[in-house]
Amino acid sequence: MSKMLQFVDTPAQMPAKQTPERRIENFEELYAPFPLKQAAKQAGRCSQCGVPFCQVGCPLQNNIPDWLKLAAEDRMEEAYQLSASTNNFPEICGRICPQDRLCEVDCVLEISDHSAVTIGVIEKHITEEAWKNDLIKPVVPGTERPESVGIIGAGPAGMAAAEELRKLGYQVHVYDRYDRVGGLLIYGIPNFKLEKEVVKRRTIHLQQSGVQFHLNTDVGRDISFETLCAKHDSVLIANGVYKSRDLKAPGMTLKGIELALDFLTAHNHLCLGDDLDTATHTRFDVTGKHVVVVGGGDTAMDCVRTSIRQDAASVTCLYRRDRLNMPGSPREVRNAEEEGVHFDWLKSPQAFLGKIGDRVEGVRVQQMRLGRPDAQNRCRAEAIEGQVAIRAADMVILALGFEAEAMQKMLEAPTLDLTNWGTVRASVDDGRTSIPGVYAAGDVVRGASLVVWAIRDARFAVASMHRDLQREAKTA
Ligand SMILES: Cc1cc2nc3c(=O)[nH]c(=O)nc-3n(C[C@H](O)[C@H](O)[C@H](O)COP(=O)(O)OP(=O)(O)OC[C@H]3O[C@@H](n4cnc5c(N)ncnc54)[C@H](O)[C@@H]3O)c2cc1C
Ligand code: SF4
Repeated sequence: MSKMLQFVDTPAQMPAKQTPERRIENFEELYAPFPLKQAAKQAGRCSQCGVPFCQVGCPLQNNIPDWLKLAAEDRMEEAYQLSASTNNFPEICGRICPQDRLCEVDCVLEISDHSAVTIGVIEKHITEEAWKNDLIKPVVPGTERPESVGIIGAGPAGMAAAEELRKLGYQVHVYDRYDRVGGLLIYGIPNFKLEKEVVKRRTIHLQQSGVQFHLNTDVGRDISFETLCAKHDSVLIANGVYKSRDLKAPGMTLKGIELALDFLTAHNHLCLGDDLDTATHTRFDVTGKHVVVVGGGDTAMDCVRTSIRQDAASVTCLYRRDRLNMPGSPREVRNAEEEGVHFDWLKSPQAFLGKIGDRVEGVRVQQMRLGRPDAQNRCRAEAIEGQVAIRAADMVILALGFEAEAMQKMLEAPTLDLTNWGTVRASVDDGRTSIPGVYAAGDVVRGASLVVWAIRDARFAVASMHRDLQREAKTA
């Protein structure tokens, strides 16, 4: 018998979390695994709503109430099968989705002040149990098809598309300029949010499924887009967005002012056990430094939390709006505060201070206030004339967001339609671009977004690619 609706007697509970003092000493994930009974008990808090708002809030429309019920009944294998039917990598989403902005924020229990069902950690638990019990197997297609598909980018969009295409029996080739599969899952997101082994075991499964990865292959430099289109029956562009947004302020050329992704990539290499050359090591070493991170999104949170784990003397996050209006997940801000990060709200950098040609020594910050809401209903940040202050800094990390690279130039594809923001113009419902047979998914379509959206778009793009390829095969 299932025990649901337990939210009155059972309070919401997360698995054991490392203390802040211990967490800043390591790069391990924050939460321990759920003990089996506790996961089932937490799943049993679900109120089994007739209209599940959590499912609506999940970009993959995961069938959350049903897999929670199965988990509450200790039917973990069925729970896993159901959860995996809509999500290629549930254990990754369970770890890094901002649930406080997606499924959990819409949970009826949250709305009625009982605290949401802890959906993310239960999703992670169900899939980790499946790994433990050897239930997750590489794809073996029923029939091999002769058509091949080329995918540009081995991030979550490319990985999810590759798996979906192998399920359908296509020959899949993935091209990536990095030396590892995973995109930002490996070189962007730090280990304490997503341990690299979690991505690596998925990569091994994809390889065992027959996906061919061509790493260290930059499309546009090592192989042309035209060659890829000629070689494959369809092409998926899933190469993300990598151009860091710029800041125009005096002193930008001082040493010690770094871009967030360069900083995080270097530290991710270290977590992977790679050797950094001495110059790179010295450049990104924050030991004993006063670090100022500029920005209020999740990338900024990853930078502050990486710095604090690397023995920085102090870590300050400068953000031009206030806590309520920041784009990052509130949960990540709480984690950062617990770990000793100082938040300087309503501050914007006006100039970076130091001797020309030398290292940055400080930041002149402008006091801001919140003005009227803009078109996205976010309050504008307005400068308060004459109110400035100096913050000491010998390392500044800029985490101001990302834009698409110059795609037409990179791919030498003048007929590839782009949006005003430089992203590839494609419908998120079918991934079709302006070039027949070429599809796009993930950040390169949406702009900097989330892993769960990249997976969702890849699945939709593959579905329409399959329809188009089979229609062509019939008419040939
Ligand atoms: C620091 C950071 C933290 C983040 N934290 C989270 C989080 O906690 N939760 C969350 O959901 N999302 C998070 N995100 C966002 C998330 O990582 C992205 O939305 C997601 O990775 C997008 O997937 P993608 O496959 O479209 O692109 P990517 O992951 O960027 O993968 C694109 C791949 O394409 C390759 N590539 C690029 N150009 C070429 C080329 N010309 N030739 C060959 N290969 C190429 C790249 O090497 C890369 O491997 C974070 C992002 C950053 C930067
Ligand atoms: S995929 Fe993300 S949004 Fe969907 S249920 Fe899982 S954690 Fe929630």
